[in-house]
Amino acid sequence: MPDQLMNWAKNITFSAHRAHHPTSVVELRRVVAGAEHIRALGSGHSFNTIADSAGDLVSLAALPPLMTIDTERSTVTVAAGLRYGEVASYLNAHGYALHNMGSLPHISVAGACATGTHGSGPKNGNLATAVRGLDLVTATGDLISLDADSDGFLGSVVALGMLGIVTSVTLDIVPAFDVEQYVYEDLPLPQLYEHFDEIVNAAYSVSLFTTWRESRIEQVWVKRRIDEPANTKPGWMGLRAAEVDLHPVPGIDAASTTQQLGVPGPWHERLPHFRLGFTPSSGDELQTEYFVARESAAAALDAVDAIRHQFSPLLQVCELRTIAADQLWLSPSYGRDSFAIHFTWIKDIDAVTPAVAGLEQQLAPYDARPHWGKVYTTAPETIARLYERLPAFAALAHGYDPTGKFRNEFVDRYIPKR
Ligand SMILES: Cc1cc2nc3c(=O)[nH]c(=O)nc-3n(C[C@H](O)[C@H](O)[C@H](O)COP(=O)(O)OP(=O)(O)OC[C@H]3O[C@@H](n4cnc5c(N)ncnc54)[C@H](O)[C@@H]3O)c2cc1C
Repeated sequence: MPDQLMNWAKNITFSAHRAHHPTSVVELRRVVAGAEHIRALGSGHSFNTIADSAGDLVSLAALPPLMTIDTERSTVTVAAGLRYGEVASYLNAHGYALHNMGSLPHISVAGACATGTHGSGPKNGNLATAVRGLDLVTATGDLISLDADSDGFLGSVVALGMLGIVTSVTLDIVPAFDVEQYVYEDLPLPQLYEHFDEIVNAAYSVSLFTTWRESRIEQVWVKRRIDEPANTKPGWMGLRAAEVDLHPVPGIDAASTTQQLGVPGPWHERLPHFRLGFTPSSGDELQTEYFVARESAAAALDAVDAIRHQFSPLLQVCELRTIAADQLWLSPSYGRDSFAIHFTWIKDIDAVTPAVAGLEQQLAPYDARPHWGKVYTTAPETIARLYERLPAFAALAHGYDPTGKFRNEFVDRYIPKR
């Protein structure tokens, strides 16, 4: 549990009265059964009050660090509070991999899946798309198992913590693979628009970074599986290949980033941008992110570019990624191949909020869905319009939790009571 019940960014002080750290599922079940209001806190990397509770918070970090590989089914079952970095090292040591990772390995598996956390790659669904099953402590304190055959499973994975406390998650795994990472510099926006597919499809995972001080992409991070074709040979797109490791945020030392310069390495040490033992990103920040349909990418970027002078003084860096469509009801990539526009802001919510609202206005024509775990001001009516399965999710949540034990002020704003 973070110090003084704050999130990682320390922009949110949780209002929960009590924090529990059960060491067994039996103890967790007792705590949940006895609580009036309770929510799980993962590693606290969300930037809003999504994890907060008017009653109790529970961290699963002290539960046994279960990790069991099923070679027949190609899955791993892991304790929900484990961090991706821990799971990834274990899998790699046993010759396996996850299909993708977010920018940082520090986040908990259940917390990341609950908000639809994603990495990049045109064929890569978000991290929750790897979930094959969940064990969950429900409002009554019962422990139940869910899988693809369970009613409403597609609503149960990106579930904002509303169905119960997830104790373990079963994830698809694939054979381990190696990746080499190159960074290219200075891509003008018109060139990106003209060659969009070629650039974002150039490798397994591609991320674009810009500070929006100019209409250009400053860094293109290309993560190529070494068992796939090398599409970005020297001179690719006429871009300069970086000759030293770079941090995406200008002025920050690259020691915290994963190795670049084309040095091959295991998947879990290249797919995230940041290394587990270091502070990811800048550490002193707020974040916002919107998902639009992939085919709207250029138009949405143009709309952002049109107001860059308004928001760029508050921006540390902006990251652009692609995510494959999925069928998870509350996933920001539900039903559409997506293009995600992410903003790492300075840590000043009063200055950032109007900038966020301005961006939302620009992106409204593109049905921009905000990242559930980041800062946004999108109206609840807009969220309702953007998620066609929201009523089904509300009914599912009500079925699991009729008294609203797992509800909080944040979800009350966006998820109808039934
Ligand atoms: C530096 C940084 C980089 C980031 N990079 C990315 C990125 O690359 N891609 C991206 O998509 N996002 C990114 N994020 C956002 C982050 O991945 C999400 O906010 C994610 O939800 C954080 O996971 P967590 O374990 O910290 O969850 P928390 O913030 O602790 O909780 C998030 C939600 O999950 C629920 N939850 C947690 N554990 C459980 C459980 N056991 N059972 C039921 N519900 C649970 C909580 O109740 C809450 O609703 C980044 C955040 C930071 C700080």
